[in-house]
Amino acid sequence: MPPRGREHRSPTIPPETRAPTGERSPPAAHGARLTVDLGAIGENWRRLGVRAPDAECAAVIKADAYGCGLSMVAPALWRAGCRTFFVAHLSEGLEARACLPEAAIYVLNGLLPGSASLYIANTLRPVLGSVEELSEWAALSPGRMPAALHVDTGMNRLGLPVPDALALAGDPRIRAAGIDLVMSHLVSAELPDEPVNARQVADFARVAAAFPHLRASLANSSGVFLGGEAHHQLLRPGYALFGGNPVPGQTNPMRPVVRLEAGIAQVRTVEAGQSAGYNARWTASGPRRLATLSLGYADGYPRAASGRGHALVDGVACPILGLVSMDLVILDVTGVPGAARGGRATLIGDSLDLDTVGRAAGTIGYEILTGLGSRYVRAYAGG
Ligand SMILES: *Cc1c(COP(=O)(O)O)cnc(C)c1O
Repeated sequence: MPPRGREHRSPTIPPETRAPTGERSPPAAHGARLTVDLGAIGENWRRLGVRAPDAECAAVIKADAYGCGLSMVAPALWRAGCRTFFVAHLSEGLEARACLPEAAIYVLNGLLPGSASLYIANTLRPVLGSVEELSEWAALSPGRMPAALHVDTGMNRLGLPVPDALALAGDPRIRAAGIDLVMSHLVSAELPDEPVNARQVADFARVAAAFPHLRASLANSSGVFLGGEAHHQLLRPGYALFGGNPVPGQTNPMRPVVRLEAGIAQVRTVEAGQSAGYNARWTASGPRRLATLSLGYADGYPRAASGRGHALVDGVACPILGLVSMDLVILDVTGVPGAARGGRATLIGDSLDLDTVGRAAGTIGYEILTGLGSRYVRAYAGG
């Protein structure tokens, strides 16, 4: 991945065609512009922490900080006061360590055979998911480096079954492996009425009670909103830090973080019967004005939003017509007289929040975020 500064620019673009950071119009040399509000990420981290005053709030920054750019996001969270981070892979842990020299960094996906020395050399903490991993770590890092123990309370994905974890209480390998955190993950935290939440909360409470000298962690973003029983000593939010709504169906309590804007390359009029885009999936029923945006699925804008999604032009929601192409999207701007070549459209931002865009593409906002492409010019605000 290329290093990203305040703004990632191609060296071949003469300075006069670049947009300075903070300027809202997309630079002519790029199709689209992604603005990440680092100040809003810090504010969201604080807001989540306020909901559990007795717990520490960590930050999950896997998948390049949910597509927002780990090398910019991680230091911003550190400046906001965050001291504990979670990533998925060892490679992400190495990237996080490079910009967070003093943080506690846990690697969720566990210990792969032969990788322990890299963890130790970079003071990364594996989240151990089996007795095998626990024994290996205890043998290779006797008490030198902390680690976490992952307990499975319903996902059947990573972690020890609850009875196996309870059987380890008092086992010398817990101390030998330097375990300082016991954690589990919620199946349906964003659906608070699902009975599985109460079952997991109760099972994990038994696990936490069996390891009274360890810190415990259960809550992801939505878990923070399930109430005090889900909080324990360490929160593990990801999505909500980046503006995703942790309480679907209710007003989003988080500040928006990501804004995606694309330039209008052309505007044209079509008559009844004319079609637009690949495979002529849309045909005009009457005269229409179309705007072509310089952004497509190769930028990470989902092709599944074809014929379903919207973009905002001058604040008006304009439907996406026909199929999203690799580099272009066609909008119906009939209702926006000001839409013109050189103008811009908002694909994510304002009323088009992440969750709305995810729904339009038949997916979730998480996938929209983590799919954000590297072709945009990126600008970082605040922080
Ligand atoms: C991704 C992840 C999180 C963060 O979840 P969000 O829903 O994004 O807040 C927390 N814990 C584990 C184990 C995860 O894999």
